[in-house]
Amino acid sequence: MNIAAAIEGETVQTDVLIIGAGPCGLFAVFELGLLDIKAHLVDILPKVGGQCAELYPEKPIYDIPGFPLVTGQGLVDNLMEQIKPFGATFHLNQMIEQVEVLGTAEVPRFRLRTDADTVFETKAIMIAAGGGSFQPKKPPIPGIEAYEGRHDGGGVHYAVRKMEAFRDREILIVGGGDSALDWTLNLQPIAKRVTLMHRRDDFRAAPHSVEQMRALVASGAMDLKLGQVLGLKGEGNDLQGAICRDNAGAEFEIACNTMLPFFGLTMKLGPIADWGLNLHENLIPADTEKFETNVPGIFAIGDINTYPGKLKLILSGFHEAALAAQKVHRYVYPEKRLTFQYTTSSTALQKKLGVA
Ligand SMILES: Cc1cc2nc3c(=O)[nH]c(=O)nc-3n(C[C@H](O)[C@H](O)[C@H](O)COP(=O)(O)OP(=O)(O)OC[C@H]3O[C@@H](n4cnc5c(N)ncnc54)[C@H](O)[C@@H]3O)c2cc1C
Repeated sequence: MNIAAAIEGETVQTDVLIIGAGPCGLFAVFELGLLDIKAHLVDILPKVGGQCAELYPEKPIYDIPGFPLVTGQGLVDNLMEQIKPFGATFHLNQMIEQVEVLGTAEVPRFRLRTDADTVFETKAIMIAAGGGSFQPKKPPIPGIEAYEGRHDGGGVHYAVRKMEAFRDREILIVGGGDSALDWTLNLQPIAKRVTLMHRRDDFRAAPHSVEQMRALVASGAMDLKLGQVLGLKGEGNDLQGAICRDNAGAEFEIACNTMLPFFGLTMKLGPIADWGLNLHENLIPADTEKFETNVPGIFAIGDINTYPGKLKLILSGFHEAALAAQKVHRYVYPEKRLTFQYTTSSTALQKKLGVA
């Protein structure tokens, strides 16, 4: 997988930007790749696979054509294998916040910006954003907003975008799942001190991570506290400590200048609502010939779109990706005629797939 290395200030040029690396965004890479169209993908999650990987990786899916049974993660792994020949670049852990239309209806061009300040210029956009962005559930701590939104790693953060921002900080991580444990283990070597706080001495995270965390606590390299955070103290947006209560009701304080609460994710439409796409009940209307929206050059596939008869099934999104790619071709190669070909019989397609 090509993971993009962010280069400060550089604009990424691409044929298509796919927003969302769920199953439909991933399969779009395949359909676009067969037509020689290069894609970059952005996803707010740190991993690819959308709902399949995030919500039901181990559950069996029974209605993917040709697979009597495949798990959510199994499908994602197969899609990643299938799109390997096309070398798409992934920008994970980032959310598209702004879309700006630069071109005309005939020659569309767009500029997009993520919350990590990556800027893209593209000839077409494929929105495959599912139910919208997975957004962090916030703990009910009064006044927590005052400490949010700093770019230097201080205050409260719900995701780790750049680990370096957290170097030499006194960090309080709150939660007991995989994210809390993974970031405890990843940040402990570079932080000044890490404290992990969880309600009870029982963790939902992978047992191996829990063992590693306990070993670090036993060696004195980090702290584990049981209880919950009641409030935060600091000046302006400078966090200085968390006021906590243990399970016996006693209050105590943890000195910290960064707090990372990992309380799970919820799905919200997020910034897509502001992109002028005539939303209907939080879905993007698209035509059924090419799955284009009311903005020429912006396509919507998978769970995010709506049209008469829409079924929110993975196979519907795959079909939509194939048809949308045909129209994207007209924007990317206006001078070229597109001829329909089968992968079974076209040596040109097989060469692109690296099998001929
Ligand atoms: C428990 C469960 C079981 C299911 N079982 C089946 C089944 O058996 N068969 C079936 O066909 N379907 C099933 N589904 C539905 C299926 O998972 C969805 O139809 C499918 O995941 C839709 O794929 P998608 O690529 O459109 O969107 P998603 O899988 O939702 O992926 C969208 C991605 O876009 C990202 N994103 C959103 N907004 C932004 C943004 N602004 N910037 C960057 N990234 C963004 C999200 O983080 C996410 O990763 C099931 C769903 C659930 C929850």
